[in-house]
Amino acid sequence: MIKLIIHGGFFSESGTDSATKKAKQDALKRILEDGYSFLKNNSAFETVIHTVSLLEDDPLFNAGIGSQIQSDGKIRMSAAVMDGQTEKMSGVINIQKVKNPIKVAKVLIDFDDRVLGGPAATDFARKNGFEEFSTETEQRRKEYEEKLKSLGTGTVGCVAIDSEGRLAAATSTGGKGFEIPGRISDSATVAGNYANSNCAVSCTGVGEDIVSGAVAAKIVTRVTDGMPIGKAFEKTFDELKPYDGFAGAIAIDKSGNFYHQDSHPKMVFGSYDGSDFQIFD
Ligand code: ASP
Repeated sequence: MIKLIIHGGFFSESGTDSATKKAKQDALKRILEDGYSFLKNNSAFETVIHTVSLLEDDPLFNAGIGSQIQSDGKIRMSAAVMDGQTEKMSGVINIQKVKNPIKVAKVLIDFDDRVLGGPAATDFARKNGFEEFSTETEQRRKEYEEKLKSLGTGTVGCVAIDSEGRLAAATSTGGKGFEIPGRISDSATVAGNYANSNCAVSCTGVGEDIVSGAVAAKIVTRVTDGMPIGKAFEKTFDELKPYDGFAGAIAIDKSGNFYHQDSHPKMVFGSYDGSDFQIFD
């Protein structure tokens, strides 16, 4: 049994027209097919990185190419990967001008210091062969210039189970858009991306709400302690209600059960198990 589930964040207020929706559905399907065939011969860990890098390469999503612009006109991105088998997480926070932040996160998994932030994360990437690459698109510059503030429009993530039953999660983001430089996203924290041998979770939404709700870590812990995955989601999302937390998450447990939930509608997600595609509608 091999399976994967991916998300492409939430729709922005400016991106809910039917052409954009169709384009995102088609992109998710294409990327799921590619990720699934990669998973046939690779581990869940390698697959979540491969699949998230495909999402980063697609300008439709707010990660890698197409990342949102911060209040000072610069793009800073964050990404993390967690191997459910070894329970190691690595990531980059506020990295600049790198095509695939998730691939820099992957390099860091073999280091003792596994999460780097700011200009030092960018320096680390350059020293490790990641060339300077502008991830800015015309559309994002236009949105920035028009000051079209919108909530959590993107982030991408993937969770997978491989043929040996190993789980992994990866998440990559261009952030909320218009944030104060230096703001830390949830994506490279255990609230936004978490996995062990029982469950793997990737989140999207407003980073501050996801951190307040410790969303990914709570779901994984509850499943590990024996709660069915659906109940673990329900309880964790109920705990966001007092402050109207804006979050969405995807997950797989060790039995291969998929799950997804959002507190606000319109999370963009898709799953594939080799026979059935489930794509948001
Ligand atoms: N979670 C991301 C952040 O707050 C944004 C998003 O998911 O769109 O940085």
